[in-house]
Amino acid sequence: MSYETECKKCHAKVIVTEHPMGVPGGQDKEQGYCPACGELVAEFMSDGFIRTALAPSKMRELKYTICRDRHGHPLVMLNSPLGNGQEIVPDSLRRLAAALVVIAGEAEAKDMGNGYMPASKSTEF
Ligand SMILES: [Zn+2]
Repeated sequence: MSYETECKKCHAKVIVTEHPMGVPGGQDKEQGYCPACGELVAEFMSDGFIRTALAPSKMRELKYTICRDRHGHPLVMLNSPLGNGQEIVPDSLRRLAAALVVIAGEAEAKDMGNGYMPASKSTEF
């Protein structure tokens, strides 16, 4: 049995796979944890064990907030975890870098004067 779920904490797409042992009467409550942040993502009765993996080909969401410091300079708060032991293929890493460059430009272009409002956004990479 295998299905995809989303981590409630870091929103990573996680594939949960049950590996049954086929042992009669060996049902126990087993847990599966998010490979990115360690949050519990699956818990059910099984006679085997639960494995979790990050869904490989999915675009990942990067959430961020553009705000400003007390001198009125732009700041970007990244609201999605980057890294945390997560494995990233070089292509995804390049897309992440490109997304970060775009965010930096967006922050600098933002009006930090009278029209200032903190803005929460997200992008996919
Ligand atoms: Zn997670």
